[in-house]
Amino acid sequence: MSEQVLIDIAVFFFGTIIGSFLNVCIVRLPKSESIVRPRSHCTVCKKTIPWHDNIPLFSYLILGGRCRFCRSKYSFRYFLVEFLTGMVFLGFFRYYGLTAVTLAYWVMLSCFIIATFVDFEHRIIPDEVSVGGMCVGFILSCLIPGLHQISENALAVGQLSMRIIVVACLLVHLLDFWAHKRKPDQEDKVLFFIIIMLLALQWGCAFLLARINPAEKIFPYIRSADASLIGLLFGGGMIYAMGLIGDVIFRKESMGGGDVKLMALMGAFLGWKVAFLTFFIAPFFGAVYGVAEKIRTKDSAIAYGPFLVLGCLLSMFLGDQIITWVLGQYGIYNPSL
Ligand SMILES: [Zn+2]
Repeated sequence: MSEQVLIDIAVFFFGTIIGSFLNVCIVRLPKSESIVRPRSHCTVCKKTIPWHDNIPLFSYLILGGRCRFCRSKYSFRYFLVEFLTGMVFLGFFRYYGLTAVTLAYWVMLSCFIIATFVDFEHRIIPDEVSVGGMCVGFILSCLIPGLHQISENALAVGQLSMRIIVVACLLVHLLDFWAHKRKPDQEDKVLFFIIIMLLALQWGCAFLLARINPAEKIFPYIRSADASLIGLLFGGGMIYAMGLIGDVIFRKESMGGGDVKLMALMGAFLGWKVAFLTFFIAPFFGAVYGVAEKIRTKDSAIAYGPFLVLGCLLSMFLGDQIITWVLGQYGIYNPSL
């Protein structure tokens, strides 16, 4: 076996171990249980699972997906999550190499996997994942400038659009309070405060960038932090704005807060361009599944998080091709010229 194959197997196995932990999060986070204690146990007979029955993929296959003691059947999801995590970890490793960027993306992918499976089952995305992931995304962006390779123009366009979207959302809310003579409650106040703080922080980054010599060592780090904040506010703001429009048209809540935070997480890790594309790609997948589910269950509400994740991954890898193709259809842009 060549060295490369051995390394690939090691990375894949590392991914399955993380996947095993993600399984714990998927089961426990929606129930607000601790993810470290108690140790993994059978949900039926409550017996603690010995370490040798807890080896990713293998244990499931050897025990036929059943508990060693009471023989009750475990969900196939356990196997699927471990396998999937191994595969995407390996895929990103092969694409980006063993770099800090890859490590950051592994964290992001872990959030994606938990969000996807919890959302499918419970139609919620736990704050630990969305808000936690968003914060981690911003912190990692401050440390790893490689996460946000974005041109000067693109950054400026993102900043302007982000400010327009966020300020518009805030204004609509203030108008709503005024029109309905409603007083903002505690939750509104906290949210307003956080948004204003994030806007101020981004403004501070932009202020510094305009004054620091680009040759300074600190420059790329501030720039990356700036790009992350723009992405975070842009992504979250876009879904939030769409939700506001939906509320007016359909007279009912159309977008969950979890989707807003998930999109903000994507923006924090990947910048505003990927968030922007995701916003337009995700509905295609969501619509196909939504129609199928509506026929099957007569219920029009679907979990949207998994489609945001799918759209996000497509935008990451095929974003440029998709933009070129769409613009090419209208003859706006021809890459051969
Ligand atoms: Zn059992």
